[in-house]
Amino acid sequence: MPIAANLLEIQATIPENVTLVAVSKTKPVSDLMQAYQAGQRIFGENKIQEMTDKWEEMPKDIQWHMIGHVQTNKVKYMAEYVSLVHGVDSLKLLQEINRQAAKHKRIIACLLQVYIAEEESKFGLDENELNEILQFVQNDKNGLQNIKVIGLMGMATFTDNQAQIKKEFQHLKSIFDKHKQLTTLSMGMSGDYQLAIECGSTMVRIGSSIFGGR
Ligand SMILES: *Cc1c(COP(=O)(O)O)cnc(C)c1O
Repeated sequence: MPIAANLLEIQATIPENVTLVAVSKTKPVSDLMQAYQAGQRIFGENKIQEMTDKWEEMPKDIQWHMIGHVQTNKVKYMAEYVSLVHGVDSLKLLQEINRQAAKHKRIIACLLQVYIAEEESKFGLDENELNEILQFVQNDKNGLQNIKVIGLMGMATFTDNQAQIKKEFQHLKSIFDKHKQLTTLSMGMSGDYQLAIECGSTMVRIGSSIFGGR
């Protein structure tokens, strides 16, 4: 199916209070423009260089979300324009985002990535590390005036076991609910976004169901 039709079909299944991030990594600008012309304005990328190339080429009313793992030394390349960084998993990274955002007189919104999957390989914080970072951020003396932590992001285990995925999403939602200042819960991809929404997701990151396989 064409990209615009995929997009409209998915949008029809997502409640109004859930934000759709169109994950366009590895796809050419011509594909992204099809989604843009169908009304999509939020795109997610997982490599800073690729996102920056697309930002330069594409209309300026697009919000660019960084959904991948971020290396501290590359933050400077996206600080001018990135609208939300999903995968923040260390204080060091948060401080670098703050430093680079200040250079551009911006406040960059961030999500803290929480580790919920069983797999070893996934990035993210455990609940103690999360609490420490949230406390640090809230203390004005620590000078993080150029970032705003607005929520959490998580990825479930890559499995067909729906009960397992549901358990992990519910776990993340329960952590999210403990922090009333947080408004955004980014969970759910092409294979599991409906379950994620049932479990309280407010932001889904969907790639292959819109743009096709990679
Ligand atoms: C690629 C990616 C997605 C989208 O995955 P699909 O299965 O193609 O929808 C979502 N989140 C992250 C972090 C990704 O890297």
